[in-house]
Parts: sequence; structure tokens; C-alpha cells
Amino acid sequence: MLYLNELNELLTIAQKNYPDMDVEEVKKAYEFAYQAHLGQKRASGEDYIIHPLAVAKHLAILKTEPSMIIAGLLHDVPEDTKYTIEDVNKNFGSDVAFMVDGVTKLGTLKYRGEERYIENLRRMFIAIAEDLRVVLIKFSDRLHSLETLDALPVNKQYRIALESLEIYAPIAGRLGIRDVQESIENLAFKYVNSQEYERTLLINEKEYPLKEKILKKDQSVLLKKLKDQPVVQIYGRTKHIYSLYHKLVRHNWDIGSVHDMVAIRIITKNIPDCYSILGVIHQIWKPLRGRVKDYIAQPKPNGYSSLHTTVFDQDGHVIEVQIRTKEMEDAARYGILAHWYYKTVQPQNKKNHKHQFKWIDEIIQRQHESTNYKEYLQSIKNDIFKDHIFVFTPRGDVIDLPYNATPIDFAYTIHSDLGHKCISAIVNNQIVSLDTKLRNNDVVKIITNKQRKYPNADWLQFVKTKIAGDYIRRSIQQQKKQLYKK
Ligand code: MN
Repeated sequence: MLYLNELNELLTIAQKNYPDMDVEEVKKAYEFAYQAHLGQKRASGEDYIIHPLAVAKHLAILKTEPSMIIAGLLHDVPEDTKYTIEDVNKNFGSDVAFMVDGVTKLGTLKYRGEERYIENLRRMFIAIAEDLRVVLIKFSDRLHSLETLDALPVNKQYRIALESLEIYAPIAGRLGIRDVQESIENLAFKYVNSQEYERTLLINEKEYPLKEKILKKDQSVLLKKLKDQPVVQIYGRTKHIYSLYHKLVRHNWDIGSVHDMVAIRIITKNIPDCYSILGVIHQIWKPLRGRVKDYIAQPKPNGYSSLHTTVFDQDGHVIEVQIRTKEMEDAARYGILAHWYYKTVQPQNKKNHKHQFKWIDEIIQRQHESTNYKEYLQSIKNDIFKDHIFVFTPRGDVIDLPYNATPIDFAYTIHSDLGHKCISAIVNNQIVSLDTKLRNNDVVKIITNKQRKYPNADWLQFVKTKIAGDYIRRSIQQQKKQLYKK
């Protein structure tokens, strides 16, 4: 058998996360996959087994449990070899077989163009709802495909990269798995839009030396100032290329307006330390107005929490500082995986693979209702994948809305009755018109009139969410029926 060094590397990573792992079982899965794929080659000319091995390694790095690593090793067996899903079941049990089967189903798509895109999305959401593990294996599969995309013909490169950017990356992002999202985006970007990629890369290369110098100096200043503070770690982080690109586009390619190309990250022991360190930083460096963000008190809907501040350092350079605990750092990088890992390594907690994301239920629900592919696609793109804003109820609950959403969208997202009875809205203590475009961090209060029964048909002209549009249309129809009866 070949690639035993790679196998050992995989086992070492996995065992570090799961000391009680059944090493023999993983080895057995490798042998099985090795024999099954024997003689098969990848487009690059390499032995096929390189691929499942790399997928399993991605999974191990993400700290996923051993059964998923086994499923990762076997994920292409039923589709590409003479062995079937029953063979996998017989040798590795129903749980592993279930995952392999799920990955196989996610992978076999016959549709083309937009229909294929929607079909892919649909399957992905159903898979997340059924068993998140299947989607995680698929992410790792896709990551390795992107890493080895050069071997494929150009048209295939483009299609796979585009699909990765449009489907895989946003879903990874919404699950909070930032590491996977960023890897997918960086790898795919080059193939989807090589010109913009080169342009961004060039700016990055030109700006980076200066930014790095500032970063290094500020870091050492901070280290001295914080030496009596309970800091676990201080380090610099650089914005990944794809998100730098988006920032640049938003700022007309003016790198001078991008304040977080590099940032200082401070890891603390606990939450009170985060706030006390923020206080110390604001004593030495003046904060920019309106740039202090408390995602600890009010986390983003994907669970992200941290303190952010943008400051002028001693030399007048603008730099962002992010302060968080180790748990928050893990959650920011691994999202749902972090919670899951902590859960599974503590055996008193029962494993629960079921997802906890309301938005996935909503999408699946919408699929059942939707008969029109185009309309469905548009609504998905608007509600889920476009830029989101996060606004707050007066009680501090976070509501996740699409860009340019209005108080009416806000009201219907909370409850249909709140929408129907809405007569005015107060945003940040000011009365605003109902078609006002909400912005990040707005605090929104809806004023209702209990006597009111039906929404205003004019609202349809400015609402941005599908949920608001649906409620309004339905209610207006009911109103017409009532009138007709009389
Ligand atoms: Mn594969």
C-alpha cells in the first residue's frame, strides 16, 4: 500500500483531537478505499486515493469525529468503484454508510445552468437539515477539488469555482465555519474572476509591507502596555484576499478607506477581561467615532462574538483591534463545528447532529411552497446570500435582514401580526417612514394599532423580504374575499 506517510499524518491529527479513537478502524477504511480505487487516476494523473486521503485530512483538521474521517476516506467508493453502499454498510456500519450515501447523492447532479444551481442548493439545504455531517464532508471534498483545479479543463474550472463561490462559501459562512469559507473563497476567486483577483493581489502586495510594519510596532506597544493585564495571546491577522476584494469594491478601489486590512487580535481568559482591555486600549489610542462594536453583548446571528474597535495609534495610523476569549475565537473560525466538538468530547452530552438554524427550515419550507424556479432562486439570493444587516429589537434580540430591508420587513420577520398592525416605526429613538432603509445595528421599534386588520398594499413596493411580501399579498386577498362576502 502506498501513501502510508500521509495516512500516518492523518491518524496523528485525528488522534490529537480524539485520543480514544479506534485507529485500526480508520486504517481499515483506508485499505478498503485504497483497494477500491486501485488503478484509478485523477485528472492530474495522480493515483485517485490521494483525493479521499486529502478529504479525510481536511476533516481531521476541522476536528470532526472519527466516523466522519472514515466516511471521508470512503466518500467516492459507491460512485466510482465496483463496491456499493451495501459493501460500505457491511464493513463499516450503517452510520458511516448513511454519510457516504448522503455525500454521493449530493454529488450526482444532472441538471444544467440555473436549474442545476437550484437543484444543488435544494439538496444542500435538505442535507444540512437531515445531517450536517454530510455537508461537512462535501465541503472538504470541494476544498480538495479546488486545490487541484488546475488539472481540469478551463470551462470546468470556471463552473466548479463559480458554484463554490455562490453556494458552498456562503453556506459555510452561515454555519459560521469561517476557516472553510475563506479557504473556498480564496481558492475559487482566481478561477471565477482572474482579472479582479490579480488586481486585488497586486494592491495587497503593494500595501502589505507598510501595514505589516505598523502592525508589528503596534503589537509591541500593546504588549508593553498590557503586560499587567490578563492577556493570553496577541497576534496580527491579515484580511483574506476575497474579502479584501469586496471591501475594495465597496470603497471604489481606494485602499486608504479600508481600515481592517490588518488587525490586532487579543485573546483573553474571560469576558470581563475583554472589556477591561478595551478600556486600556482606548486610554492609549483614541477610538474612531462609531467604530466600537460590541458583538459580545449582541452577537451576530451566526453566533459571532467579539469586541471590535478602530483606533488611531501613536503615529496616527488607523488600525482595528479585536478582543475575544479563546471560546469566541474557536467559534469564529469553526462555528457550529466548535460547539459540536466541545459537545462530543464530553461524553455526558448526547450527540445531536440536528441543525439549529431557523433559516434552513425557512428555506426548505419555501421550496415546498415554491413552484417557480426563477422566483425561488431570486428569493434565496435576496434573503440568504446577499449582504445582510443585523438590527435589534428594543429588547436587544438580533434580527437578520437582507440589505435595504425596511421596518415592515423587520415587523413581518418577527410576527405576521406585528406586520399587519404596524402603523409607524421608531429607529434609534426617531420616528421614521415605513419605507426607510434600515442599517446595521439600528434599534427598531414597531408601533401598532390593535384595531388595524389588514396591511397596506403600497408596502409591496418597497419590502425586501419574501416573508413580508407573502404575508401582505395573502392578507390583501383575504380582505377582498371578506368584502365580496358582504
Ligand atoms: Mn470526492
